[in-house]
Amino acid sequence: MVLTLLLTAISLAGELDVDRPVPGKGASGPPPPTVDRPCPDQDFPTWAATRRAPSEHPERAEGWDFEATLWHRLARVAQENPSTVLPQCIGLTVEKRRIWAFSVQDRTLPVQQRLLVFAQLHALEWIGAEVAVAFIEQYATAPPPGMELVVVPVVNRDGRWRTEEDLLAHRPRTYRRANANRVDLNRDFSVNRENDNLWARLPFTRRYYYTSPAALSQPESRVVDRLAATGFDAAVSLHAFGGYVYFPWAGRYDAPDDQGRHRALAESMVADMPGRPYRINQLARNMSWFRGLGMEIDHIYGTYGTPSFLVELTRSGIRLLEPATWRDYFRWYNPRDKTPHVAAGLSILDTLVREMSAKTQGLGR
Ligand SMILES: [Zn+2]
Repeated sequence: MVLTLLLTAISLAGELDVDRPVPGKGASGPPPPTVDRPCPDQDFPTWAATRRAPSEHPERAEGWDFEATLWHRLARVAQENPSTVLPQCIGLTVEKRRIWAFSVQDRTLPVQQRLLVFAQLHALEWIGAEVAVAFIEQYATAPPPGMELVVVPVVNRDGRWRTEEDLLAHRPRTYRRANANRVDLNRDFSVNRENDNLWARLPFTRRYYYTSPAALSQPESRVVDRLAATGFDAAVSLHAFGGYVYFPWAGRYDAPDDQGRHRALAESMVADMPGRPYRINQLARNMSWFRGLGMEIDHIYGTYGTPSFLVELTRSGIRLLEPATWRDYFRWYNPRDKTPHVAAGLSILDTLVREMSAKTQGLGR
């Protein structure tokens, strides 16, 4: 119990202590671009074939796929299931890396429910991408009738790339979270950017209630916003760590109008989990001092009315009796054996799909 509380505190602190400019001190690095450039005209399998996994696989990432391998897995799935899996480049990162979305559906049936799943707003949280890719693989051959699943496995590709470089260069103590402009993408959304909390007014704690310089200042968050604007019946953002399913609000203490609907969906998501189920809560109520300002779930729910969930996958890879794990930031978010954590994440998404499928009418196989 004490350990759980401690790890939750570290996890939420992870939501605060970031590789980003200190507010008021000015941002370093290039200014955020204001114009979003279109994707280059190249299909996904052709592009994926140009990706190269590193020849040496670092021991600390044993069992974990580098991004190139994730793309190869997805290219295989897309080529084997051309009628159900549609890859699409939906925008570019600060450093012009392509952000890919995968639409999975039975295209012979009308869409009645749409589910958005996206991962890796944060650079080190590889587990989210693993769950997202496994989710696509799982439904590619038999999509749920009447549903469209839209999955973005890696939003913050520039940050992810840096974590791969860190692993290859044996830099366990480099903490990465932000995008190439050093902005925490999950403080860059437009809803609930102001804080009513007393702690935010005190000189020593004010800095923890960080938001980006302006709402949707980064190309990656604009990509998520544009996608969310197409209208979904539920949205899930995959993060690590903590073992939680959170719902809005993150940036204010009062409950959302349809708190009951959020709570019921969250409860169904954890109902069939293997092992100890994740806890559910409104994010701003988990700890009285915590507010997450400008976060994705508040934005997607507050702007588009879509029930939105932030899943903190895993209970961390920190092991009390293994000091090497204490200061290895990759290991904090990505436990040594990913298998049970991918299964846990899939279970959460599967039960949500089942819950949403129940709302599709007359489309049984
Ligand atoms: Zn995160």
